[in-house]
Amino acid sequence: SESDDRLSAFSKSGIYRFDDANAFFVDPVRVLNRCYTRFRVSPSAYYSRFFPSSIFSTGNYNNVPKNSGKRKRREKEKKKSQALNLREQMADRRHQEVRVALLKAHEALLGASQVLETLRNLRDDVEERGGDSILRENELDFVGLGSVWQAPFYEIVLKVNEDEAAVENAGGESYYQKVVPLFETHVANEASNDMEAELLDHKYILPKNSCFYMVWIENLFRKSDLRQIHNLIPAESDCGFNLILIDPPWENSSAHQKLKYPTLPNRYFLSLPIKQLTHTAGALVALWVTNREKLRNFVENELFPKWGVKYATTFYWLKVKADGSLISELDLFHHRPYECLLLGFSHGKEMNSEQLLRPNHLPDNQVFISVPGDYSRKPPIGEILLDYVPGFKHARCIELFSREMIAGWTSWGNEPLHFQDSKYFLKY
Ligand code: SAM
Repeated sequence: SESDDRLSAFSKSGIYRFDDANAFFVDPVRVLNRCYTRFRVSPSAYYSRFFPSSIFSTGNYNNVPKNSGKRKRREKEKKKSQALNLREQMADRRHQEVRVALLKAHEALLGASQVLETLRNLRDDVEERGGDSILRENELDFVGLGSVWQAPFYEIVLKVNEDEAAVENAGGESYYQKVVPLFETHVANEASNDMEAELLDHKYILPKNSCFYMVWIENLFRKSDLRQIHNLIPAESDCGFNLILIDPPWENSSAHQKLKYPTLPNRYFLSLPIKQLTHTAGALVALWVTNREKLRNFVENELFPKWGVKYATTFYWLKVKADGSLISELDLFHHRPYECLLLGFSHGKEMNSEQLLRPNHLPDNQVFISVPGDYSRKPPIGEILLDYVPGFKHARCIELFSREMIAGWTSWGNEPLHFQDSKYFLKY
């Protein structure tokens, strides 16, 4: 039947499309696994939250039923929402506009019993997980490494496979070691297989055909600009990127959200060289924003105009738990169960009028649903975005402020190796 076909397509791609709702269900683990040949992403390491009886979970998450602190907060919010100030009214209007699309997407999920069944079993590898990864819970703090005087001297050891065919035929592995500086270096795995790398007793897995550029964060604060990005600007004119995904470390005033990474004031992002990063044929720019109205205004009125990005539409990431329910009530003012991805076009030097029409192809209010992974980790939706990229056949893709690597992408940030730690992987 058609639904069986879709389900088997989903088990390969990790993406399930609900036609009638303009929505997708995404399993990041399946999506990411397509970047790897010898390793796979550990579902239990990815889904560290929102699954019941998680033996790895450390905090109390939303699946804890009674939490009086939370209830109090909720009551306080209810009261607050009765007297909204002007900015809150604007935010509420935005919310009301997308509410129906979100509800429709969620209903589509709840109506698809086979998808729900799959959802419950997404985190199914508890038994398989090796003892090694359970014992070694600590991971390298790249932000810390990058802020000490020794930072320029850190090196990473790449295990470069000598014979790709031998790797594919399993067992016959032979590699040579290549030592390169960790920071301020373009480090690539150009092979069609995963590459292992070692750094200070930690092992990292680099997906096929990917590269990272890890910035030495001290420089950024001292020079108060984002100078390092300029090193990534392609020298040849036919280069540049067609898809630019950005998840900036926005400042967050919320007191109960303990951030795990440093943040920057909004004005810093004005100097991101989006124009220079744009391919001559143009680029789709996708920017994650928080639900704060002030930030939305900043992006629409200052940031996008400064970058030369023409706003096109917004996609929404709806967050659910393992049982398919939303992670928080849809109408909670300060704890929306969704996040926004603003999409716009950056015009390349060679774009003709036909290509300028491409924004029309972007559907409005597209919703993708997934169970969140680690704190502020976004689902890998690059592939969905690729469909809307100018000249997408050979699209060049970059993610700024990235914490992971993706096949076919350049990852830029101060910790692009974060989720590449071998503790997040299983070996086939
Ligand atoms: N998209 C990522 C994910 O899905 O895991 C999360 C990105 S997080 C919102 C922002 C990232 O920017 C963090 O890794 C943070 O350490 C990094 N960051 C903060 N200040 C930075 C700076 N000055 N230069 C580069 N990266 C920075």
